[in-house]
Amino acid sequence: RKRNHSEPVFIQAVEEVLPSLEPVIAEHPEIESLNLLERVCEPERQFIFRVAWQDDAGDVHVNRGFRVGFSSALGPFKGGLRFHPTVNLGVIKFLAFEQIFKNSLTGLSLGGGKGGSDFDPRGRSDRDVMRFCQSFMTELHRHIGHQTDVPAGDIGVGSREIGYLFGQYKRLTNRYEMGVITGKDASWGGSLARKEATGYGCVYFAEAMLAEREESLEGKTAVVSGSGNVALYTIQKLQQKGARVISCSDSDGSLHAPEGVDFDCLKSLKEIERDRLSNYPTSRGGVEFRSGQNVWDIPCDMAFPCATQNELSAEDAEKLIENGCKMVCEGANMPCEPGAVARFHEEGILFGPAKAANAGGVAVSALEMRQNASLEHWTFAEVDTMLQDIMKGIHQRCKNFAGIYATPENYQVGANIGGFVRVVQSMRAFGLS
Ligand code: NDP
Repeated sequence: RKRNHSEPVFIQAVEEVLPSLEPVIAEHPEIESLNLLERVCEPERQFIFRVAWQDDAGDVHVNRGFRVGFSSALGPFKGGLRFHPTVNLGVIKFLAFEQIFKNSLTGLSLGGGKGGSDFDPRGRSDRDVMRFCQSFMTELHRHIGHQTDVPAGDIGVGSREIGYLFGQYKRLTNRYEMGVITGKDASWGGSLARKEATGYGCVYFAEAMLAEREESLEGKTAVVSGSGNVALYTIQKLQQKGARVISCSDSDGSLHAPEGVDFDCLKSLKEIERDRLSNYPTSRGGVEFRSGQNVWDIPCDMAFPCATQNELSAEDAEKLIENGCKMVCEGANMPCEPGAVARFHEEGILFGPAKAANAGGVAVSALEMRQNASLEHWTFAEVDTMLQDIMKGIHQRCKNFAGIYATPENYQVGANIGGFVRVVQSMRAFGLS
């Protein structure tokens, strides 16, 4: 705590994991004698760098760039890049810490890392974004590589930004090293279904939790926060499975569409026009844009927080509970505050924690790396089938570990323990590091 006192979200992420591990620590005293907890909580390496760039008007700006390699116990550092004005070292450390256990849960050979910048892409032209990405990569390229550290996208970084970043990496290194970054467009080395993977995976995880109670998504109502990559494809898959998505949001407010959000209209607004949600058509079906409001006060059967950290407070949780919500499944990283999660558990509401529920994106990133290494291109259906298998595997792992430690249906405990044991086994095998 003392060492990281200026990083509250990082402390929050660690404090969410450590209590779950107590029964494992009690069974394995070597975790304490080898000081494995302190070691797993300290990043292997972290870089902070200046990113100077020039906008269309010729003005020069300076942003701060970050890359944290938290753990390479299971493979090269792997995790996305976030471009958002709220980014600082603590945010990147929390995301990288979560990523270690998430990547471990997938069962694949991936370490944990994360990076980004406090650059604000909102309102920036395409060329501004390109110049920023080029300057960012001019420093980052020294620290990454397909066997060292493999970045991807996150908030504010989609396939356009990945293209500019990869283009600059290629120029600087004189190598077409496809596996150095994931989230690439399918036309030049990306995997089909990567764009959809986090949202789809989140819905597959929710479906698996419901199946344990002999229920399905069919006919249920859902609210989804955010309207970015994860939110969009959560909405699409929910609709394909017969659920009705009645709300989504952005940082300006929320949309209430009692008859259901029109996915094609939303996709075109966000991915093609790159417009704000307030410009979604409100002329029919009682659709309303609620400025400055979130989605949690809208009565629903299921809630999918898919925007950002700490976006669902304990008070929001009370509203969901009062309105009869039966399941909360996290598409974003750490979107529910600890008090909210505690209330869901008290009320017996199914809770899918981010480490497990949103691991589909990184899992398909690993499949993208495999395709790059073998120069193969798999079909959308092939990748989607593998994603479904991976999400089932993650669900099973969480369920098993929750069962072993006498907390059935507590997927949070199951995910934390399931992720931790693999990492710590490797750390022990590698000796002191
Ligand atoms: P996008 O940038 O595509 O979308 C982010 C969405 O969240 C936007 O609608 C944005 O609204 C909203 N949002 C962002 N910050 C805030 C804020 N401070 N307050 C309110 N709304 C906000 O990002 P992604 O969809 O890729 O990521 C969403 C979440 O999912 C993040 O937590 C990310 O870490 C996590 N995640 C993403 C993965 C991926 O594959 N992309 C993989 C695993 C996890 P606005 O446009 O107004 O800012």
